[in-house]
Amino acid sequence: MRPQLLYPLFAPVTSLPGIGPRLGKLFEKLTGPHVAGLLWHLPMGLLARQHEPPIDTVADGATVTLKVQVTVHLEPKRPRQPYRVSCVNETGAVDLVFFNPRGDYLKNLLPPGEWRLVSGKVERYAGTLNMVHPDYILPVERVGEIRELEPTYGLTAGLTQRMVLKAIQAALERAPEMPEWIDPHVVKRHAWPKWKQAVEQVHRPAAPSDLSPATLSRQRLAYDEVLASQVALALVRQHNRRLAGRPSVATGALTAKVKAKLPYELTNTQRQAIEEIAGDMAAPQRMLRLLQGDVGSGKTVVALFAMLIAVEAGGQAALLAPTDILARQHFATLEPLAKAAGIRLQLLTGRDKGKARENILNGLADGAIRLVVGTHALVQESITFQDLRLAVVDEQHRFGVQQRVALADKGKGVDLLVMTATPIPRTLTLTAYGDIDVSRLTEKPPGRQPIDTRTIPLDRLDEVANGLRRAVGQGSRVYWVCPLVDESELVDLAAATERYDMLRQLFGDRVGLVHGQQKAAERDQTMARFQKGEIEILVATTVIEVGVNVPEATVMVIEHAERFGLAQLHQLRGRVGRGTGKSSCILLYQTPLSETAKARLAIMRETEDGFRIAEEDLKLRGAGELLGTRQSGMPEFHLADLAAHADLIQIARDDARLILEKDPELVSERGTALRVLLYLFAKDAVVKTIRSG
Ligand code: ADP
Ligand code: MG
Repeated sequence: MRPQLLYPLFAPVTSLPGIGPRLGKLFEKLTGPHVAGLLWHLPMGLLARQHEPPIDTVADGATVTLKVQVTVHLEPKRPRQPYRVSCVNETGAVDLVFFNPRGDYLKNLLPPGEWRLVSGKVERYAGTLNMVHPDYILPVERVGEIRELEPTYGLTAGLTQRMVLKAIQAALERAPEMPEWIDPHVVKRHAWPKWKQAVEQVHRPAAPSDLSPATLSRQRLAYDEVLASQVALALVRQHNRRLAGRPSVATGALTAKVKAKLPYELTNTQRQAIEEIAGDMAAPQRMLRLLQGDVGSGKTVVALFAMLIAVEAGGQAALLAPTDILARQHFATLEPLAKAAGIRLQLLTGRDKGKARENILNGLADGAIRLVVGTHALVQESITFQDLRLAVVDEQHRFGVQQRVALADKGKGVDLLVMTATPIPRTLTLTAYGDIDVSRLTEKPPGRQPIDTRTIPLDRLDEVANGLRRAVGQGSRVYWVCPLVDESELVDLAAATERYDMLRQLFGDRVGLVHGQQKAAERDQTMARFQKGEIEILVATTVIEVGVNVPEATVMVIEHAERFGLAQLHQLRGRVGRGTGKSSCILLYQTPLSETAKARLAIMRETEDGFRIAEEDLKLRGAGELLGTRQSGMPEFHLADLAAHADLIQIARDDARLILEKDPELVSERGTALRVLLYLFAKDAVVKTIRSG
């Protein structure tokens, strides 16, 4: 249960003064449903409000606080005209300007003849000083409420700086004193402030340098966040270890049959990965292994071998895929091979309903089905296995730790293999997975040809579209990916639909469209037609991002490539170059390019090496442009900045290990404090894995 201490922070944002249901929705979008989220919303800048400068000296564009006397209200004569309230003091005149004010609201707020404090940004316009929608209008005695230095925050449409500032101040008032969860030596060594002091300080910058991630307060909060994630990972690991593993020893009976049936030789790194996995599975401990391999490196067949080992040992194995499309695709790839081994492989997705689903569930429960591939439908409580020995989780970053635990809990001592195509540098593997063993597929299957990558400005889009004619004429299949716009899926969709229409005009019904708003069935159908070659050009939002395998696809066009992160561009490009045909990737970009975007596109032209790209990605991120952790599959941190706080991760990991060695149940004083920390960062599910949780 969440400690009582945290209740005020986990109250809904609407519990704060002045935030009703309407604003509540906006705040929810900006910082999440709870008060706590506001604390993590760090200031981006610092605004200086000049305090009562003489009006005649005020510069255009300055933000100022003025004490003025209201003279006259000038109501608009025509619609669209602003409402003006003229004010003066002994140093000059200023007009307060309002668009669409409500009724008598302004008359009450600014009665003629009265003195008021007004504060906001001013503009000089045709000789008049204007203040449009002042941030503050207060009676003069409330001068203490306006600070000369004010943090500024990222906003969302509908919220103003003042609203966000006020909400954050109110949230800070709810912040309790916390027990110290960091090792006292670590606190002392870094001279970090206490938690409460630290949150207050980050929201009270007094100079631009206070906004840096290097301040002691920022470091401390970053460390808290990283520590919470490291302790959570360590707890999951501890939980996994406790549920003692079981040896699953390979007999080779099934894998031999599959090897004979494979139309290719395994690469050396595939062979090595299979050996490592077999070694782990044969050992009495539980396996926790990450199979990392660039897109197209052939992870699926490695997973199959692992699954067959589980069956050889008399058990069952499950493969969990993040989407319907991927589950189906894995199924299609693996089914013939499983058949070659004489084993039944079953597909299970959310679309299986009624009798069909019941049959599958029965098969899993009585062991008639040995291998299953599915989506999160596999994790549901109603699913039981006769003897699940291995869980394989594909494209792990789409799932939380919780699903991993849920699937693993469906058997005794279940071995876990996590597959990811994100080539995560070692330092980051730690933050995502904690202490996990890693097998890497560093070779590409033979016969692959390098992908010819070009960057072309968007204004030559017509040329590019026309150029596809030749490629399509020669039997190529083409992906056309439309821009990612973070704010709204609907905007993505509009762009994709528009491109689809344009390409339809050029290529007729050989063009298809898939996007995230479609029904899964419709999307799958279009994907299937593309796979079969009934459609030759597939326009897509980033739904094709993960794992889709169409060896005949040889052209990848990415529109607004400058908006994608490196990791994502790499993933997308990996959709082509999977067969033996010569492939190309066209990165269409909008000019002018930022320095970072330029560097990113240059790297894409230069290399196809996923690990190198991942390292460069990290470096560029250090350069300050936020690429978004979402795109590279890393956990999202609010307070920790992976570039600036990389050293803290190592410390946190060691600290987490040490404390769990000493106090595995988190019952000591520090242990109890750490529980508070875990709840503070919403790791509730993980706390439940503690025996006395
Ligand atoms: P990913 O690692 O991206 O999941 P897949 O497992 O989908 O890659 O494999 C990509 C393609 O490479 C598939 O068509 C698969 O059949 C093929 N493949 C896998 N291993 C080899 C190999 N050793 N030699 C040739 N082709 C291979
Ligand atoms: Mg894959």
